[in-house]
Amino acid sequence: MCGIVGYIGNKKATPILINGLEKLEYRGYDSAGIAIIENNEIKVMKDKGRVKNLYNIEGINNLNGNIGIAHTRWATHGKPSQVNSHPHLDSQKCFAVVHNGIIENYNELREKLIQKGYNFVSQTDTEVIPNLIHYYYSKENNKNLLSAVKNACMDLVGSFAIEVISKENPNKMIVVRKDSPLVIGEGKGEFFIASDIPAILSNTRDIYFLENYEFAVMDNGKIDFYDKNLNPIKKETKQIDWDASASEKEGYAHYMLKEINEQPRAVRETIGTTLNNGKIEIEGLELSKEYLKTINKIYIVACGTAMHAGLTSKKVIEHLCKIPVEVDIASEFRYREPLIDEKTLAIYISQSGETADTIAALKLAKQNKAKTIAVANVIGSSITREADYSIYTHAGPEIAVASTKAYTSQVILLIVLALYFSEILGIDNKEEVQEIKKAIFELPKKIEETLKCAKEVENFAKEIYKEKDMFFLGRGIDYPVCLEGSLKLKEITYIHSEGYAAGELKHGPIALIDNGMTVVGVITD
Ligand code: GLU
Repeated sequence: MCGIVGYIGNKKATPILINGLEKLEYRGYDSAGIAIIENNEIKVMKDKGRVKNLYNIEGINNLNGNIGIAHTRWATHGKPSQVNSHPHLDSQKCFAVVHNGIIENYNELREKLIQKGYNFVSQTDTEVIPNLIHYYYSKENNKNLLSAVKNACMDLVGSFAIEVISKENPNKMIVVRKDSPLVIGEGKGEFFIASDIPAILSNTRDIYFLENYEFAVMDNGKIDFYDKNLNPIKKETKQIDWDASASEKEGYAHYMLKEINEQPRAVRETIGTTLNNGKIEIEGLELSKEYLKTINKIYIVACGTAMHAGLTSKKVIEHLCKIPVEVDIASEFRYREPLIDEKTLAIYISQSGETADTIAALKLAKQNKAKTIAVANVIGSSITREADYSIYTHAGPEIAVASTKAYTSQVILLIVLALYFSEILGIDNKEEVQEIKKAIFELPKKIEETLKCAKEVENFAKEIYKEKDMFFLGRGIDYPVCLEGSLKLKEITYIHSEGYAAGELKHGPIALIDNGMTVVGVITD
């Protein structure tokens, strides 16, 4: 997830682009950059950090070109750095691309391109795109930017919204999307492109919405649309009448609701980067069978919601890998003397990667010679710099304080991790592992289905919002789900609630259950 902006018209592009990026920082903010076509050359200016840092780049205000693309990044591949910032160029510096999304097969494409003589300077998945475009463009007799972009897109597996400019076609911009958002605003002989409407709302309210694999070619004040096979298609603009602050939240009343609805995508991207055609590849993690065989305990350490994600995975890891798992609260772990040695594998979960207690707990394990794995949502965050290995959820920025999509993605990633350990260890459970993988692939669709029940949830909320106390009860994997449900309820509604293991209720707390009290039973098994 990130923000992209583009402009093509007769005004100076730079201020329009930077202004648009500033409105999109809620989509990503670890680096920013722009590429402008000026005097038939592509000029790229980019840096790590917030969009405002762009103003410090020497010469940026002197860029006078009328065509440009821009990006505010939320890294998925390669840490936030100047070289990994977008826009990216091909090796010959003919094409510039900004990209929102994840190219799942980038390693394979990169290898192929390297064999054909292409060089790569960044660690991003994105850099394959301009190089692929260059490859197809130079291969075609009748050099055609649209068909080169289309051929490149057909090679990409994953999600993308891209903007392409080229010095060979200095008056043109091509944009296309698949599973990542992109809209085009129409002005008078000019076009404003963005991943989200707020970035361009002050310039125009006439918006084209692109569908998957629809290409838009903008050239000299006109726009043409093409389908996946490059047949011309007609599209109409829609008039937008919401205000900018509502559109930042994509029409949802608040960020938490927006992020709840982003779960299918967050989970899909987390799966997509780890379960390639059913084969588990977790980038950044290489643990040998010999090493895993020496492990006699796994610690999972985290705070709050992330700790609940850890608790959910405990049962799965123990069941699939036959290694005992202890889950601990970071602030407890760090202030006692946990029994850790080189036979301990310690996993630390933090959405932001900046949770102080979790970082301190990780340092403690390292001092005691344990190997450490960080599970984070922010590439390059503190915890990932400390850990021996870092693996990532791809939930995109989570702005609401109460975690939703990051939690679901953590649960899924930890289950994939359990499958990964199990396969490496050669545990005799192939059939079950296959079944779980299949079920994981079905999850994003199932989450979509579940989200359709929003109305029923709302009706239920209307019934219970005056409660003083509530209970959440569940067994096995449902128990940590109850802890999380209960935490979320407290945090959001200020209703007191308890999450309990179902069988524990009779050992005391049942005394609190009165006539009419609401008890939520989670019974998935
Ligand atoms: N996958 C790309 C990267 O890591 C794009 C990330 C984004 O959407 O910001 O650079």
